[in-house]
Amino acid sequence: MQLQIRNLSKRYPNGVQALKNVTLTLESGMFGLLGPNGAGKSSLMRTLATLQEADSGEVTLGEVNVLKDKDRVRTLLGYLPQEFGLYPKVTAFDLLDHFARLKGISDSRARKAAVDGLLQRTNLHAARNRKLGTYSGGMKQRFGIAQALLGDPRLIIVDEPTAGLDPEERVRFHNLLAEIGENIIVILSTHIVSDVSDLCSRMAIIHQGEVVREGSPLELVAGLNGRVWRKLIGKEEIPGYLLEFQVLATRRMAGQTLVHVHSESRPDASFEAVTPDLEDVYFLSIRKPAEA
Ligand code: ADP
Repeated sequence: MQLQIRNLSKRYPNGVQALKNVTLTLESGMFGLLGPNGAGKSSLMRTLATLQEADSGEVTLGEVNVLKDKDRVRTLLGYLPQEFGLYPKVTAFDLLDHFARLKGISDSRARKAAVDGLLQRTNLHAARNRKLGTYSGGMKQRFGIAQALLGDPRLIIVDEPTAGLDPEERVRFHNLLAEIGENIIVILSTHIVSDVSDLCSRMAIIHQGEVVREGSPLELVAGLNGRVWRKLIGKEEIPGYLLEFQVLATRRMAGQTLVHVHSESRPDASFEAVTPDLEDVYFLSIRKPAEA
């Protein structure tokens, strides 16, 4: 199944243009939507999840018109929003069972099988009778995925999922998403570059409501080969470098600062060539969307 987004635009009543002619085609697999805070990611996710209207454009999931046929889309969709409340005094099993009822799984045996299966898949089965208030951040996120997977969706939307997870929980959550993404479309919206480079076979970078880059992370990184240079400088030199060069990143390293700059050729002999990475692509894209 394909998700096609064509010329999607949205302006809020306060005048903010959150989406500008967004056009993307997504196939099965993990798709990373990367952008800084305020880029328009949540606006796009909420529109795809039928929770808000666009001003113009078209979206189709397979044959289904996402903007018009909302009830149908909701049966094909699982959504894990950025913030979701869980009833702290209810057990994981009971809440998932409740959501399953809301999804229309009315036969109690089928429902128990679905709920047990999802708790197993998200590695929460042993903790199924614990109250959600006792869950760690990672367990809550996995519970969020379990509820998003109810009803066997074809599209899963995950908004900023790893913020607040410790490294171990993050890896576990990543593995779960990667497994899910083998068969259905998973959109991972994030401002964390490594979430996308670790997991996604296709991606787009969104900045100020516009898609400024699209492709596979490897392709996008390869496009910068031979154009990223680095140098160790003193902290006091940073402002001068920011004026003189297209600085992609600055990193503290052994008491000095490592700068990455973008340049068609070696700026001068004091710079060393670097193998670019997705952070370089990202910072270049959100720096100057027009010419980057
Ligand atoms: P992201 O998820 O990438 O952080 P958002 O889609 O939340 O971006 O926001 C995009 C822009 O739209 C921001 O400038 C934000 O302030 C604005 N915005 C988001 N939601 C609303 C709203 N309900 N009303 C007005 N402006 C909004």
